[in-house]
Amino acid sequence: MIILTLNAGSSSLKFTVINMATEDSLADGIAERIGMKEGFIRWTINGEKGRLDSDMKDHRDALGHIMDKLHETVLKDQKVSGVGHRVTHGGPNFGDPEVITPAILAEIEDLAFYAPLHNPANAMGIKTAMEIFPDVPHVAVFDTAFHHSMPDYAFTYGLPHDLCKKLGLRRYGFHGTSHRFVAEATAELMGRPIEQLKIITCHLGNGSSITAVKNGKSIDTSMGLTPMEGVVMGTRCGSVDPGAILTILEKENLDAKGLNNLLNKHSGLLGVSGISSDCRDVEDQWDSNDQARLTMEMLGYGVLKYIGAYAAAMNGVDVITFTAGIGENGPRLRAWICSHLSELFGIQIDEKVNNARSKDPRFICKPESRVKVAVVPTNEELAMARYTAKFVR
Ligand code: AMP
Repeated sequence: MIILTLNAGSSSLKFTVINMATEDSLADGIAERIGMKEGFIRWTINGEKGRLDSDMKDHRDALGHIMDKLHETVLKDQKVSGVGHRVTHGGPNFGDPEVITPAILAEIEDLAFYAPLHNPANAMGIKTAMEIFPDVPHVAVFDTAFHHSMPDYAFTYGLPHDLCKKLGLRRYGFHGTSHRFVAEATAELMGRPIEQLKIITCHLGNGSSITAVKNGKSIDTSMGLTPMEGVVMGTRCGSVDPGAILTILEKENLDAKGLNNLLNKHSGLLGVSGISSDCRDVEDQWDSNDQARLTMEMLGYGVLKYIGAYAAAMNGVDVITFTAGIGENGPRLRAWICSHLSELFGIQIDEKVNNARSKDPRFICKPESRVKVAVVPTNEELAMARYTAKFVR
């Protein structure tokens, strides 16, 4: 069975073609600068990289080019059986992936209220793909869904309750597909049922979030109403005192758009370090530039505090798992965080394994480590394809 996954952004469209018999990716790539000049599509098909420079007037145009390429290659002799769509915001109602009906598509469009940059683009990707593949199931996989199990005292803000109800203000959490995938893979690595484990998953990438997974369910996560809450990220500020934001509003004479730009695009690793939003660039200067040191240690300390909080929230922790760009590829930051947990959790990192590169899930702690520490590469596309395949079957 062949599943296509799509992740539509406002001017981009990411795709993956997965053979579910082997769970191998046959093709993946991205169309960028859709609706702009100098558009292009990059791909890897059967292990070979390629690129097409072409202006694409809209997502339909982009998907048309992508399908032409796929029909010449991996889809020459086989058909797509289902399409999985990444949807950023599922609001308060979606706790599981759903086969997309006209009513569900309308609901996804309505949820643009919560994710104005993402949900309209996701809906556009869905409509386009439904035109091109009218006869196969289309499945929406929501970034927020895994966190649906959070208890009310974890997701409620300390704001007037009526106002929260009116505006839908509460913590929803994001990266849910990744946290769930990684938690399930961690349970496999532990050789124990997920229903018996207390896992803290640290998804550290351009956007970062940490989740407490108790007995297979998300009971708390660091992102909130929007993906800005939590630890410092590439260009997002993470949690700051709302009073600081009011001060900026008053003193800098910014409107909502300007403030949003400041908090989302000019803060985080970029804003603090003044070097880059890319963690590699900041980490390179950890020892030579004090602002880089401060940035890396702020990030490490932020993650550390969530780990402590979530161990308390779950009344224990069996295993801490790192994933995503920084979590998978940043041994120094992992070691920095874990070195602060040696007395509390009896964690002992195995430096050799921590520093070795691998694409496989693995422990990076010594066998005698009381709380285990793992690195598990995330694969949101495979997770989406698995959900979609379930509906196809
Ligand atoms: P993601 O959003 O998961 O693609 O992660 C992107 C982040 O991962 C960027 O900040 C990258 O700098 C970081 N990253 C990727 N590779 C490495 C690496 N080898 N060492 C440290 N950070 C990395």
